[in-house]
Formats: sequence, C-alpha cells, structure tokens
Amino acid sequence: MYNSSVTENPDGRTVNRHVAPNKICNHFNSYGLLCDEYDQLRERAQGRCEICGTPEEDTTRGSLVIDHYQADDLFFVRGLLCDKCNAVMARHDRKVAWGPATRPLADRAAEYHRNSWGATPEQLRQAAERIAASRPWSKRLSGYDPAFDDQEVARQSRPDQTV
Ligand SMILES: [Zn+2]
Ligand SMILES: [Zn+2]
Repeated sequence: MYNSSVTENPDGRTVNRHVAPNKICNHFNSYGLLCDEYDQLRERAQGRCEICGTPEEDTTRGSLVIDHYQADDLFFVRGLLCDKCNAVMARHDRKVAWGPATRPLADRAAEYHRNSWGATPEQLRQAAERIAASRPWSKRLSGYDPAFDDQEVARQSRPDQTV
C-alpha cells in the first residue's frame, strides 16, 4: 500500500513509499533500490515471475522476491521472481548443482539473466566470467549428477587433457 505521507530525502530519493511513514522499504535496506526503481521493477514484471510467469498471488509466499547476482564486489539486481525460480538462479550462478527438476529451466534462466534489470554490459561480462569459472559444489553432495555438470561433460569430452 502506498503512503499518503512519504518522506522525501533532501535529494528527492524516496525510500519509504511502500511502508509505514516511520519505516524504510526493504528493497532499499537490502538492495539499495529507491522506491522509483522498485516501481520500475514491478512495472517490468507485470505481477508475474519473470521466468515461469506464475502470478504473484499464486507464489509460495504470496509475493515476488527481488533476485540479484552477487559475487564479491560484483552486484546487480536482475528482476522479480517466485521462490522456485529464485532457487533456479542459484543453479544458474553455479552456487548449487543443477538437478532434474531445475535443469529444464536453464535456458530461460540464462535469458532472464542476460536481461537483468540493473546490470551494465560490463557487469554481465564479469558475471559470465565468474559463473563459468565457478564450481563450488562438491561431488560428494547428494544429488550430484555429472550429466548436469557442464564442466564435467566438457572435461570428459577432452580425454587427452590433464585437469
Ligand atoms: Zn519503497
Ligand atoms: Zn517462477
């Protein structure tokens, strides 16, 4: 709900339009997004998860989450997602291994990432480099399947290279 009494910072940056007047919006506290920027995100998503299209009211928590990419100092907001697709992006970012349930969404996840709301082309280039280089999950984790591990497949197709 929008406030009738909105606090404007001296530079006109509003950070509490979506909460009570004495509070600060979570999109600002957690992601540094101004209310205007959050409204732009919501405008783009049109009330649906930006990967699977689930309407906001049908998501597990009843609201879309702000999805972002972060690796060390590299940070940008990608868009608004349902909880399930937010978990898919952890696979896309190679923080968790793909599995049979998430793998079918890989192409849509990659396309969504390329259309990140808050990323410059340079940030996308750096993110692609870091994602390609990362392989943090352990083969010992349950659910690990080399068929879903792009780097493992690539390795096996180059048998004469030492790794
Ligand atoms: Zn706000
Ligand atoms: Zn979704």
